[in-house]
Amino acid sequence: MIKVDNSAKKRVFCNSDKKEVLDLKQKVIEKIEEIEKTTKNYNELTVFERELYIDTISVFKFKKLIDKQITNLLRSKLSDDFKEELRTLKNDLYFILVADINTIKNYLKTKIALNSLLIHQGDKKLKSSDFKKYQKKFETLYSENLSNIKSSFKRPFFDLFEDINVCPYCNRNFINPIYKEHSLSGDNKNQSPDIEHFYPKSIYPFLSLSISNLLPSCSFCNKIKSDVDTYKYNCLSPYEIKKNDFRFDFKFKSNQVKEVKLMSKEPRCKNSEILNLESLYNEVHNKQINEIFDDILKYPKSYKRSLGKFKLTESDYKKIFRNYYDERDFNKHPLSKMTKDLYNQINGLI
Ligand SMILES: [Zn+2]
Repeated sequence: MIKVDNSAKKRVFCNSDKKEVLDLKQKVIEKIEEIEKTTKNYNELTVFERELYIDTISVFKFKKLIDKQITNLLRSKLSDDFKEELRTLKNDLYFILVADINTIKNYLKTKIALNSLLIHQGDKKLKSSDFKKYQKKFETLYSENLSNIKSSFKRPFFDLFEDINVCPYCNRNFINPIYKEHSLSGDNKNQSPDIEHFYPKSIYPFLSLSISNLLPSCSFCNKIKSDVDTYKYNCLSPYEIKKNDFRFDFKFKSNQVKEVKLMSKEPRCKNSEILNLESLYNEVHNKQINEIFDDILKYPKSYKRSLGKFKLTESDYKKIFRNYYDERDFNKHPLSKMTKDLYNQINGLI
């Protein structure tokens, strides 16, 4: 699990590079920062809701689309209680679309405590017809406006993560998108990572287009995570994790790393179990871990002695561990978190 930037500048994107649109996007970002420092009232964003640009900036476009679908739902046959909740949702749309992960998490906590009809709790099969109808609307909105290759917001969404090369969930697989305008078959053959909903859209449909709920991921992680209720299992989103929330722990025997454990600071947090990370690291990367460990053992004893303990410079670390030293760079290369934890554990032991 690797930290991903969730600051306001990473929560707004646009499908145009016209100067006036980019200027407006910057103003929206600054307004969000101001709202979060002061009133916490995201509906103040309405001041920027101009017809001219409404289709170019993610938060306004998505708000407009969701708003329209909720209006349609309110005209259809639904229970009065369900309609009441949808009306509340209509008023919370700016908040839901651009608030940071911690604010979204607190919102979920309140909604779950109130037994909100907009959250699917309980048996997978026992969804009410009202819920199914509302869920379908959000599913369609998401697929048409973000996941579909033809969506003008898909590439700008991935551009938000251009400094990330590796899946933030497993830190194993590369996820860089590739855009080919003219392929041999004549179509645009774009390859992109999966878009992963941290809180599953099958349980929390209203978070289908919420930026703080969306992350690029490898298809392996997206598939294995599937519809598991990450809220129920106290999972931490890459947007919220802090240093030392997770740590790899190595068991050594006869100059070999025999086992890797992924320790969570909060025992109730089930990220590792849900993503099957321990098994993956032990079964798939064991050889690689031991190759690095062998290199460390071969490192000249005289140099190690002269340092007093095994403390490497950043450039020496890169040579031996073949990876990045600084936590801010962990998203650039596979297994970076694991190698740094290996270094931290053996530092001083050799
Ligand atoms: Zn992954």
